[in-house]
This record gives sequence, C-alpha cells and structure tokens, in this order.
Amino acid sequence: MTTVPLNDLQRAASDQEPALRDAVQAVVASGWYVHGPQHRAFEQEFADYTRSGHCVGVASGTDALGIALTAAASGARDVVVTAANAGAYTSVAALGSGLRPRFADVDPATHCLDPAALEPLLQPDVCAVVVTHLYGRVADVEPLRELCDGAGVVLVEDCAQATGAHAGGTPVGSFGTVATFSFYPTKNLGALGDGGAITTDDPLLADRLRALRQYGWTSKYLIEVDRGRNSRLDEVQAAVLRVRLPLLEAGNERRRQIVRRYRSAAGGSVVVLDAPDGHVAHLAVMECDDRAAAQLALSAAGVESDVHYPVPDHRQPTLAHLHDGRALPVTERLADRVLTLPCFPQLTDAEVDRVCDVLASL
Ligand SMILES: *Cc1c(COP(=O)(O)O)cnc(C)c1O
Repeated sequence: MTTVPLNDLQRAASDQEPALRDAVQAVVASGWYVHGPQHRAFEQEFADYTRSGHCVGVASGTDALGIALTAAASGARDVVVTAANAGAYTSVAALGSGLRPRFADVDPATHCLDPAALEPLLQPDVCAVVVTHLYGRVADVEPLRELCDGAGVVLVEDCAQATGAHAGGTPVGSFGTVATFSFYPTKNLGALGDGGAITTDDPLLADRLRALRQYGWTSKYLIEVDRGRNSRLDEVQAAVLRVRLPLLEAGNERRRQIVRRYRSAAGGSVVVLDAPDGHVAHLAVMECDDRAAAQLALSAAGVESDVHYPVPDHRQPTLAHLHDGRALPVTERLADRVLTLPCFPQLTDAEVDRVCDVLASL
C-alpha cells in the first residue's frame, strides 16, 4: 500500500523543474547573490500581488515577525498580544526582539484571535497585537483593528499560512498596519529554502523595516536605526518565488477543492474546517472528539496526518513561565481536538478519495 503523504514537495519541484533550473542558473551566472535584480523585482511583484505600497524581503517568516515587532515596540511598551494556538512563531519572534508575549484565547469556530478575549489584555504596556490567519483562513480583523486603534497599538497580520487569501477581494495584509509572510518550502508560496517578507502601506515604516533587516543601515555603513539585524532574502530564493508566484492562485484553488471534498465526505463524528472562497486552505484541519482513534484509522489506511499544534504557547517549556495564568479554555480544548489531513496542490484525485473513504468511516 502506498502512503498518502501529508505533503510532498518533490512533486511541485519536479513539475516546475525546467523553469526552476533556468531561474537558478540565471542567478548563478549573474554574479548577484543578495539584494540584486531578482530580489528587487520580487519585492515589486509581491507588493503588487498583495496590493500593498511596500514589500520588504527578509530571510524567514519568523524574522519578518521579529523585525515588524521591533519596529512596533516603543519605550515602555514591550508586550505583544497574540493567540497561543498558532505554533508559537510570534512568541519566539517577540522574545528574540526583547519583547514579551501575552496570550488571548481564540474563537471556537474560527480558531483565530477572539476580540472579546483581546479587549481586557490591551493594557498600556502593549505595543502590538499579532493576528494569525490560521490554516489559510482569513481572520475577522475589523473588530481587532478597532480595539487596536483605540489603544494606540500596532496590528500585525501574520499571513505565513495565508498567502493569496482575501476577504471579499481585499487581500490579507491590507487590514493591519503591517503584515508578515513566510516562504518556507511547505507554505502556499514556498521557496527552495527559507524566505519571508513584510508588507505595509506606510512609507516611513517601510524605510524603518528596510534598515532593520540590514544592520540598522539607513545608507551603506551608517547605522541610524537601533536593533537591526541581518535578514536578507537571497537572489536564488527571489528568483524561485518569481517562478512560483504566477502559479499560486491555481494551487490555492486546488487546496480549496480538496478541503471541500473532505468536508462532504466526513462522517458524523468529525468536522473538517471549511475553506470558502478567499481562504487558501494552507492546511486541511478537522476537529474530532477521539483524535487517537481518527489517527489510527488514517494510518491503517496509509494516510499521514499531523497535529497543528499539539502544545499551545503557554504550555511550552520555555514560555510557560511568561504566562499570566489566565485561562485559555478554547485554545486548550482545540489542542486536543485538531488533526491535519493531507492537502497540497499536487495531491491526486485518487489520493483524495482514499482520505475521503477514511473520513466517511469516522
Ligand atoms: C511558518 C510560520 C511562521 C514562520 O515562518 P518561517 O519562515 O518558518 O520562519 C510564522 N507564522 C506562522 C503562522 C507560520 O505558519
């Protein structure tokens, strides 16, 4: 019995092989390896695609968060409020930027930051709120933005799982002050290595982000912005991303299609989270009462599955001591109930059918 993999990056790479090889070879021949013409062109193309005024390429999604948060921090405001069910990337980035995470509970239907839970946490020590468009689902940002605006807090959208997502035609990244993206190979727009980007409409903030990603330089060898680092998106990755960006819409549509098929096949004891138009189904996630049994049935049928994410941030060994003790009942309940099914554009119909057969039996 062959395995239905959770993901298989080789399939896309093999379909795109000639174009990827040409792109990489052109970089090798060009003599430009960082911040050259590929990077400049990608920043422009990605800004256009996300309809943002400015795109700043960086080395990873975590760096994108860390740099955006460094730019957001000011004076005594050193707390970042976020959800604890989104893989801890924001918490890790905040700590790396000398900031402290504070956790708000999530909405049981969307798994995204719950505005009612956020409100009491917006104390005067908060510099930023990070909302994650989890699993490719567009979070309802409007109520969060109203709260942030009222508190003078920067709203960051973590779009690492939602490249290409939109709400009624408005792309993710347009709702907050600043947005972060990851091009880690498994993401909807993935590189052949690490990469990330930050987008914003604010030209002054964009200048600050550009300085922060390269030593704090405002011009060569002049360090005018404090707490800079080195985080560059290299030419090879930029060239690869330029090959893949035009393919993103079709890939996202195939992901949605797969989720729809899982949803209609699912038996009574499981619910597959939906991926309506505008959402990009980065992961196909289901909820169930007996996850161990579901995992067993899937693996008996040769279907891989995984949990995103099993350990909430406030339960992580290195983060628990930072938690204020506030109860996060929805976050904890979901950590025991979520299960991720295979979902990537090159999954075949026959493989989708095999997953559907197991889902129907649950
Ligand atoms: C993958 C991911 C990140 C981190 O991106 P890297 O490029 O791996 O650093 C951040 N946030 C979310 C929600 C992610 O899924």
